[in-house]
Amino acid sequence: MSLDIDITELYQELILDHSKRPRNRGELPGSNHQADGHNPLCGDRITVFLKIEGGRVVDAAFVGEACAICTASASMMTEKLKGLTVQQVETVFGDFHDLLTGHVAVADVAQRLGKLAALSGVQRFPIRVKCATLPWHTMKAALDDRAEPVSTE
Ligand code: ZN
Repeated sequence: MSLDIDITELYQELILDHSKRPRNRGELPGSNHQADGHNPLCGDRITVFLKIEGGRVVDAAFVGEACAICTASASMMTEKLKGLTVQQVETVFGDFHDLLTGHVAVADVAQRLGKLAALSGVQRFPIRVKCATLPWHTMKAALDDRAEPVSTE
């Protein structure tokens, strides 16, 4: 068995776990940033909540009706964001987006992204890339206090 297969299996287990038992799902009392996102191609709809204090994400959560990939991505994203500065969030957003759109190799960003690298396999399924990136674009809209809902179309 090659190392590649081991990693792929590990990644799939991680995604499955987060889609079945999403972390940070629910409204966030005391959140001061939020935005809605919609992916018409799949039907994913989510709302991302952020509580930001002193330029740092102190809490993050999401609600929505979304497919397994979108739910897993939102779950892992909210876990990752907690404790990061807004500047660090921008960096992680950039890394994640570059990874899923095939602009960087997993090895180049895996250390910074941690578990999020598990979603790299999605890049082989272009239709699923929008599912995985929707929570991130929605989070970015919340961060920027954009009023209009995010759409992947
Ligand atoms: Zn989806």
